[in-house]
Amino acid sequence: MPAANISEQISLAGTEASGTGNMKLMINGAVTLGTMDGANVEIHDAVGSDNIIIFGMNVDEVNAAKPSYQPINIYNSNPVIKAAIDRMQFGINGEVFNEIADSLKTQDTYMALADFDSYKNAQKYASECYRDQHKWNRMSLMNTANAGIFSADRSVEDYARDIWHLTK
Ligand SMILES: *Cc1c(COP(=O)(O)O)cnc(C)c1O
Repeated sequence: MPAANISEQISLAGTEASGTGNMKLMINGAVTLGTMDGANVEIHDAVGSDNIIIFGMNVDEVNAAKPSYQPINIYNSNPVIKAAIDRMQFGINGEVFNEIADSLKTQDTYMALADFDSYKNAQKYASECYRDQHKWNRMSLMNTANAGIFSADRSVEDYARDIWHLTK
């Protein structure tokens, strides 16, 4: 965590209850590349859109797309995705990954194919930001500087006041 440049928090929106690993990476200056899910949302609020790299569907978009989701249609229409999944089935260093490939094509429970292009663009944008060292260092520092809200003291005080209704 102290050595990370990027904190990838790539759960499908609506599937991660919270996430605290993202906060540990943030306070150490890693820039979050993630979905609007769990505590990524709070990190986004704390650092602002310029200092986090968000991709993918939000919860409302996931809920709207899920009932009629057919990953095979994306596989058939997106040549990059098709090549990647086909490679799993042709074999990588003699290993085939048929189960993963088939589950992506037929179920894709976490809608990875639906968010793939957006993820790819986010990675490209991250590389562009990183090449501008002044910009990257600023993003990094803004993460450390705004991590205070995630302190355990603040969190426990909130619980004591709002949930447990305790007086000191
Ligand atoms: C913070 C932490 C976690 C939680 O990580 P998430 O990325 O929030 O799931 C799990 N295990 C250990 C040892 C941790 O310190």
